[in-house]
Amino acid sequence: MSLKKVMLLSALGFISFNTLSQKREVKITSKKITNNIYMLQGQGGNIGLFVGDDSVFMIDDQFAPLTNKILTKVKEISNKPIKYLVNTHWHGDHTGGNENMKKNDVLIFSHENVRKRMSADQTVRGRLKKASPKEALPVITFTNDMNFHINGEDVLVSHVHNAHTDGDAHIYFLSSNVIHMGDTYFQGKFPFIDLNSGGSIKGYIESINKVLLLSNDETVIIPGHRSLSNKAELKVYKKMLITLRDRVQENINKGKTLAEVSKDESITKEYKEEYGAWFISAKEMRETIYKSLQK
Ligand SMILES: [Zn+2]
Repeated sequence: MSLKKVMLLSALGFISFNTLSQKREVKITSKKITNNIYMLQGQGGNIGLFVGDDSVFMIDDQFAPLTNKILTKVKEISNKPIKYLVNTHWHGDHTGGNENMKKNDVLIFSHENVRKRMSADQTVRGRLKKASPKEALPVITFTNDMNFHINGEDVLVSHVHNAHTDGDAHIYFLSSNVIHMGDTYFQGKFPFIDLNSGGSIKGYIESINKVLLLSNDETVIIPGHRSLSNKAELKVYKKMLITLRDRVQENINKGKTLAEVSKDESITKEYKEEYGAWFISAKEMRETIYKSLQK
Protein backbone atom coordinates (compact mmCIF):
# COMPACT_ATOMS: atom_id res chain seq x y z
CA MET A 1 0.00 0.00 0.00
CA SER A 2 1.35 3.44 -0.85
CA LEU A 3 2.03 5.95 1.90
CA LYS A 4 -0.57 8.28 0.44
CA LYS A 5 -3.19 5.53 0.58
CA VAL A 6 -2.20 4.60 4.15
CA MET A 7 -2.50 8.23 5.24
CA LEU A 8 -5.85 8.59 3.60
CA LEU A 9 -7.36 5.42 5.03
CA SER A 10 -6.03 6.35 8.41
CA ALA A 11 -7.34 9.90 8.11
CA LEU A 12 -10.79 8.49 7.60
CA GLY A 13 -10.45 5.94 10.37
CA PHE A 14 -10.32 2.79 8.30
CA ILE A 15 -7.00 1.55 9.50
CA SER A 16 -5.53 1.95 12.92
CA PHE A 17 -3.94 5.23 13.78
CA ASN A 18 -0.70 3.45 14.69
CA THR A 19 -0.11 2.29 11.13
CA LEU A 20 0.00 5.91 10.18
CA SER A 21 1.94 7.34 13.09
CA GLN A 22 4.74 4.86 12.43
CA LYS A 23 5.03 6.34 8.96
CA ARG A 24 4.67 10.01 9.63
CA GLU A 25 4.65 12.43 12.53
CA VAL A 26 1.26 14.18 12.64
CA LYS A 27 1.33 17.95 13.12
CA ILE A 28 -1.69 19.90 14.30
CA THR A 29 -2.12 23.12 12.35
CA SER A 30 -4.63 25.90 12.95
CA LYS A 31 -6.40 28.23 10.59
CA LYS A 32 -7.95 31.40 11.95
CA ILE A 33 -11.39 32.01 10.43
CA THR A 34 -12.61 34.88 12.64
CA ASN A 35 -11.30 36.41 15.88
CA ASN A 36 -13.05 33.59 17.76
CA ILE A 37 -13.27 30.65 15.38
CA TYR A 38 -10.51 28.37 14.16
CA MET A 39 -10.15 25.17 12.20
CA LEU A 40 -7.57 22.66 13.41
CA GLN A 41 -6.20 19.97 11.13
CA GLY A 42 -4.06 16.97 11.94
CA GLN A 43 -5.23 13.51 10.97
CA GLY A 44 -8.95 12.82 10.76
CA GLY A 45 -11.94 15.12 10.57
CA ASN A 46 -11.52 18.89 10.67
CA ILE A 47 -11.81 20.27 14.20
CA GLY A 48 -13.77 23.45 14.84
CA LEU A 49 -12.73 25.65 17.75
CA PHE A 50 -14.75 28.51 19.20
CA VAL A 51 -12.94 30.60 21.84
CA GLY A 52 -13.97 33.61 23.92
CA ASP A 53 -14.37 35.03 27.41
CA ASP A 54 -16.36 32.08 28.78
CA SER A 55 -14.66 28.90 27.61
CA VAL A 56 -13.60 26.91 24.58
CA PHE A 57 -16.21 25.04 22.53
CA MET A 58 -14.88 22.31 20.26
CA ILE A 59 -16.26 20.32 17.32
CA ASP A 60 -14.86 16.77 16.86
CA ASP A 61 -11.59 15.42 18.27
CA GLN A 62 -9.84 13.18 15.67
CA PHE A 63 -7.87 10.22 17.11
CA ALA A 64 -6.90 9.41 20.72
CA PRO A 65 -3.09 9.52 20.15
CA LEU A 66 -3.45 13.13 18.99
CA THR A 67 -5.25 14.50 22.05
CA ASN A 68 -2.18 15.93 23.76
CA LYS A 69 -1.06 17.68 20.59
CA ILE A 70 -4.57 19.03 20.05
CA LEU A 71 -4.75 20.30 23.64
CA THR A 72 -1.35 21.98 23.24
CA LYS A 73 -2.55 23.72 20.10
CA VAL A 74 -5.76 24.85 21.83
CA LYS A 75 -3.68 26.34 24.68
CA GLU A 76 -1.74 28.41 22.15
CA ILE A 77 -5.04 29.91 21.02
CA SER A 78 -6.90 30.34 24.34
CA ASN A 79 -6.13 30.22 28.06
CA LYS A 80 -9.71 29.19 28.83
CA PRO A 81 -10.64 25.55 29.45
CA ILE A 82 -12.42 23.46 26.83
CA LYS A 83 -15.85 22.95 28.37
CA TYR A 84 -18.02 21.62 25.56
CA LEU A 85 -17.45 19.36 22.60
CA VAL A 86 -19.91 18.31 19.90
CA ASN A 87 -19.40 15.19 17.78
CA THR A 88 -20.71 15.80 14.25
CA HIS A 89 -21.26 12.01 13.85
CA TRP A 90 -19.99 8.69 15.23
CA HIS A 91 -17.03 7.82 12.94
CA GLY A 92 -13.72 7.20 14.70
CA ASP A 93 -11.83 9.98 12.95
CA HIS A 94 -14.23 12.48 14.60
CA THR A 95 -14.77 10.82 18.01
CA GLY A 96 -11.49 9.01 18.67
CA GLY A 97 -10.37 11.56 21.24
CA ASN A 98 -13.60 11.47 23.25
CA GLU A 99 -12.32 9.36 26.13
CA ASN A 100 -9.29 11.61 26.61
CA MET A 101 -11.38 14.74 26.35
CA LYS A 102 -13.75 13.48 29.05
CA LYS A 103 -10.75 12.87 31.32
CA ASN A 104 -10.02 16.57 30.79
CA ASP A 105 -13.51 17.48 32.11
CA VAL A 106 -14.97 18.23 28.69
CA LEU A 107 -18.72 17.68 28.38
CA ILE A 108 -19.53 15.85 25.13
CA PHE A 109 -22.74 16.35 23.13
CA SER A 110 -24.07 14.54 20.08
CA HIS A 111 -27.19 13.40 18.30
CA GLU A 112 -28.68 10.35 20.05
CA ASN A 113 -27.80 8.05 17.12
CA VAL A 114 -24.11 8.87 17.56
CA ARG A 115 -24.20 7.48 21.07
CA LYS A 116 -26.25 4.48 19.91
CA ARG A 117 -23.84 3.58 17.12
CA MET A 118 -20.75 4.10 19.26
CA SER A 119 -22.29 1.78 21.87
CA ALA A 120 -22.45 -1.22 19.52
CA ASP A 121 -20.25 -2.91 16.91
CA GLN A 122 -20.63 -1.36 13.45
CA THR A 123 -19.48 -2.27 9.95
CA VAL A 124 -18.05 0.51 7.81
CA ARG A 125 -17.15 -0.24 4.18
CA GLY A 126 -16.95 -3.93 5.05
CA ARG A 127 -14.75 -3.47 8.09
CA LEU A 128 -15.80 -4.23 11.65
CA LYS A 129 -15.59 -1.27 14.01
CA LYS A 130 -15.81 -2.42 17.62
CA ALA A 131 -18.10 -0.65 20.07
CA SER A 132 -16.44 2.20 21.98
CA PRO A 133 -15.93 1.92 25.74
CA LYS A 134 -18.57 3.75 27.73
CA GLU A 135 -15.92 6.27 28.81
CA ALA A 136 -15.88 7.52 25.19
CA LEU A 137 -19.63 8.00 24.75
CA PRO A 138 -21.25 11.44 24.52
CA VAL A 139 -22.86 12.45 27.82
CA ILE A 140 -25.67 14.64 26.55
CA THR A 141 -27.64 13.69 23.43
CA PHE A 142 -30.27 15.54 21.43
CA THR A 143 -32.83 14.51 18.81
CA ASN A 144 -33.25 17.62 16.65
CA ASP A 145 -31.61 20.90 17.56
CA MET A 146 -29.87 22.47 20.51
CA ASN A 147 -28.44 25.91 21.18
CA PHE A 148 -25.35 26.98 23.06
CA HIS A 149 -25.15 30.55 24.35
CA ILE A 150 -21.50 31.17 25.06
CA ASN A 151 -18.75 33.65 24.29
CA GLY A 152 -21.37 36.24 23.35
CA GLU A 153 -22.74 34.17 20.48
CA ASP A 154 -25.67 31.86 19.73
CA VAL A 155 -24.46 28.54 18.38
CA LEU A 156 -27.05 26.30 16.77
CA VAL A 157 -26.36 22.57 16.63
CA SER A 158 -28.82 21.10 14.18
CA HIS A 159 -29.46 17.51 13.13
CA VAL A 160 -29.83 16.58 9.46
CA HIS A 161 -31.58 13.34 8.58
CA ASN A 162 -29.88 10.38 6.91
CA ALA A 163 -27.11 12.28 5.14
CA HIS A 164 -23.56 10.95 5.78
CA THR A 165 -24.99 8.81 8.64
CA ASP A 166 -28.19 8.88 10.71
CA GLY A 167 -26.65 11.06 13.42
CA ASP A 168 -25.13 14.04 11.61
CA ALA A 169 -25.16 17.54 13.06
CA HIS A 170 -24.32 20.91 11.52
CA ILE A 171 -22.99 23.63 13.79
CA TYR A 172 -24.01 27.19 12.90
CA PHE A 173 -22.19 30.17 14.42
CA LEU A 174 -24.96 32.63 13.73
CA SER A 175 -23.32 36.04 14.15
CA SER A 176 -19.88 34.93 13.01
CA ASN A 177 -21.43 33.41 9.86
CA VAL A 178 -19.43 30.18 10.04
CA ILE A 179 -20.87 26.68 9.53
CA HIS A 180 -19.25 23.33 10.36
CA MET A 181 -20.86 20.61 8.21
CA GLY A 182 -19.03 17.53 9.48
CA ASP A 183 -18.88 14.80 6.85
CA THR A 184 -22.01 16.00 5.10
CA TYR A 185 -19.41 17.79 2.96
CA PHE A 186 -16.14 16.40 1.59
CA GLN A 187 -14.84 19.58 -0.01
CA GLY A 188 -13.86 19.04 -3.64
CA LYS A 189 -14.14 15.23 -3.67
CA PHE A 190 -16.82 12.55 -3.90
CA PRO A 191 -18.46 12.12 -0.49
CA PHE A 192 -18.45 8.95 1.55
CA ILE A 193 -22.11 8.22 2.20
CA ASP A 194 -22.26 5.55 4.90
CA LEU A 195 -25.36 3.60 3.89
CA ASN A 196 -24.75 1.05 6.69
CA SER A 197 -24.99 3.88 9.22
CA GLY A 198 -28.20 5.29 7.78
CA GLY A 199 -26.69 7.68 5.22
CA SER A 200 -28.43 8.32 1.89
CA ILE A 201 -27.93 10.33 -1.30
CA LYS A 202 -31.32 11.96 -0.77
CA GLY A 203 -30.46 13.11 2.75
CA TYR A 204 -26.98 14.17 1.68
CA ILE A 205 -28.41 16.55 -0.92
CA GLU A 206 -31.11 17.81 1.46
CA SER A 207 -28.48 18.52 4.08
CA ILE A 208 -26.58 20.65 1.56
CA ASN A 209 -29.82 22.46 0.69
CA LYS A 210 -30.23 23.38 4.35
CA VAL A 211 -26.76 24.93 4.47
CA LEU A 212 -27.35 26.80 1.20
CA LEU A 213 -30.56 28.20 2.65
CA LEU A 214 -28.86 29.38 5.85
CA SER A 215 -25.72 30.81 4.26
CA ASN A 216 -24.78 33.82 2.15
CA ASP A 217 -21.80 34.78 0.01
CA GLU A 218 -19.69 35.63 3.08
CA THR A 219 -20.36 32.41 5.00
CA VAL A 220 -17.26 30.34 5.77
CA ILE A 221 -17.98 26.61 5.54
CA ILE A 222 -15.85 24.09 7.42
CA PRO A 223 -16.17 20.69 5.72
CA GLY A 224 -15.57 17.39 7.52
CA HIS A 225 -12.44 16.87 5.45
CA ARG A 226 -10.15 19.02 3.32
CA SER A 227 -10.13 22.81 2.88
CA LEU A 228 -12.33 25.67 4.06
CA SER A 229 -15.10 26.38 1.61
CA ASN A 230 -17.98 28.70 0.76
CA LYS A 231 -21.49 28.83 -0.63
CA ALA A 232 -20.41 29.11 -4.28
CA GLU A 233 -18.30 25.94 -4.02
CA LEU A 234 -21.06 24.10 -2.18
CA LYS A 235 -23.51 24.97 -4.97
CA VAL A 236 -21.18 23.41 -7.55
CA TYR A 237 -20.84 20.37 -5.31
CA LYS A 238 -24.60 20.00 -5.04
CA LYS A 239 -24.96 20.22 -8.81
CA MET A 240 -22.44 17.38 -9.18
CA LEU A 241 -24.42 15.19 -6.75
CA ILE A 242 -27.76 15.96 -8.39
CA THR A 243 -26.36 15.20 -11.85
CA LEU A 244 -25.02 11.84 -10.67
CA ARG A 245 -28.21 11.01 -8.78
CA ASP A 246 -30.35 11.76 -11.86
CA ARG A 247 -28.12 9.69 -14.16
CA VAL A 248 -28.16 6.71 -11.82
CA GLN A 249 -31.93 7.04 -11.39
CA GLU A 250 -32.34 7.04 -15.19
CA ASN A 251 -30.37 3.80 -15.32
CA ILE A 252 -32.53 2.29 -12.59
CA ASN A 253 -35.64 3.31 -14.51
CA LYS A 254 -34.24 1.52 -17.55
CA GLY A 255 -33.85 -1.63 -15.46
CA LYS A 256 -30.04 -1.55 -15.27
CA THR A 257 -28.44 -3.70 -12.59
CA LEU A 258 -25.95 -2.61 -9.93
CA ALA A 259 -23.20 -4.44 -11.85
CA GLU A 260 -24.03 -2.51 -15.01
CA VAL A 261 -24.05 0.87 -13.28
CA SER A 262 -20.87 -0.06 -11.45
CA LYS A 263 -19.12 -0.52 -14.82
CA ASP A 264 -20.71 2.42 -16.65
CA GLU A 265 -18.06 5.16 -16.53
CA SER A 266 -20.17 7.51 -18.64
CA ILE A 267 -22.28 8.28 -15.54
CA THR A 268 -19.36 9.96 -13.76
CA LYS A 269 -17.38 10.96 -16.88
CA GLU A 270 -16.71 14.70 -16.32
CA TYR A 271 -16.32 14.34 -12.54
CA LYS A 272 -14.06 11.32 -12.25
CA GLU A 273 -10.75 13.10 -12.46
CA GLU A 274 -11.46 16.00 -10.13
CA TYR A 275 -13.69 14.32 -7.55
CA GLY A 276 -12.59 10.69 -7.76
CA ALA A 277 -8.88 11.06 -7.11
CA TRP A 278 -9.08 10.86 -3.35
CA PHE A 279 -10.99 8.52 -1.06
CA ILE A 280 -14.18 7.54 -2.87
CA SER A 281 -13.63 6.42 -6.47
CA ALA A 282 -16.07 7.16 -9.28
CA LYS A 283 -17.02 3.47 -9.26
CA GLU A 284 -17.80 3.45 -5.54
CA MET A 285 -19.78 6.68 -5.94
CA ARG A 286 -21.95 5.11 -8.68
CA GLU A 287 -22.51 2.00 -6.59
CA THR A 288 -23.37 3.97 -3.46
CA ILE A 289 -25.90 6.16 -5.26
CA TYR A 290 -27.46 3.09 -6.91
CA LYS A 291 -27.81 1.21 -3.61
CA SER A 292 -29.13 4.32 -1.87
CA LEU A 293 -31.79 4.93 -4.52
CA GLN A 294 -32.85 1.27 -4.33
CA LYS A 295 -33.50 1.48 -0.59
ZN1 LIG B 1 -17.47 10.30 8.68
